[in-house]
Amino acid sequence: MDRVAESHQRPLTPVANPAPARAALVRVENVSKEYRLGDQPLVALRGINLNIDAGVFLAIAGPSGSGKSTLLNLIGCIDTPTTGRIYIGGQDVSSQSPDALALLRARSIGFIFQTFNLLPVLSAEENVEYPLLQIQELSVTERRRRVELLLEVVGLREFARHRPNQLSGGQRQRVAIARALAVNPKIILADEPTANLDHKTGGQILRLMRRINRQSGATFVFSTHDQRVIDMADRRVDLEDGEVVRLGIRSGKDWIYANERTDRSSDEEDNDAQG
Ligand code: ADP
Ligand code: MG
Repeated sequence: MDRVAESHQRPLTPVANPAPARAALVRVENVSKEYRLGDQPLVALRGINLNIDAGVFLAIAGPSGSGKSTLLNLIGCIDTPTTGRIYIGGQDVSSQSPDALALLRARSIGFIFQTFNLLPVLSAEENVEYPLLQIQELSVTERRRRVELLLEVVGLREFARHRPNQLSGGQRQRVAIARALAVNPKIILADEPTANLDHKTGGQILRLMRRINRQSGATFVFSTHDQRVIDMADRRVDLEDGEVVRLGIRSGKDWIYANERTDRSSDEEDNDAQG
């Protein structure tokens, strides 16, 4: 695992505009998102303000339809906000072209999905390798080394040659975690990563993500409506009807809530998550 920590501290690509050391990794400022259903506007998010510090293990909690996936998609540059701004590493991503966003996504963001979304014709190791093929400056040797290390981290070394349909749900999600980590992303986003897994397997997957978060300092943001999953986070953002209703910081077994809806900084508490 030390090697993972090491490789996370050495980003593959230099950041063009590095953020000041104490700035939030992600800033969401007055963001709203409106979908159009026929001629009916549907407001999925309104007035969202949120700072996400580097190294956190953050749960976006809320019932179905509250806007969790919409928020993750905006942070993940899959979609753009209707109003407001989103900054990742100090860079405004809310007004960029689709091409620029695709590039940013490929290098800065790892995704983990409820339904795993592995490529069925590729083996586990090929699925993990796939995002690395876009990074031309990476040598073949370095690429293979990284794939091998990541499969080891998620406990699937012996399953490297297996295709997704030869793996259990939990194993598939482990492949997806390794794939999400492959490019050393700034942030890993997981949309209900345990929703298609039984309770025990879901718990193992969450603990694996948590271990990687602790050991490598990788930032995880995941959505869930499962209280047991929320309780494994160290930060929580509660959504209801497209609004942030509560922000929480873990203190031992309890949550300390801030009911303010806007920017808050918690850099101090996060420093221990970096190492
Ligand atoms: P959650 O992930 O918390 O279940 P979503 O972000 O998926 O919530 O959805 C929030 C609201 O936006 C819901 O009312 C949903 O029906 C609506 N919505 C989500 N995606 C779309 C879309 N592409 N087009 C129209 N409405 C959408
Ligand atoms: Mg959702």
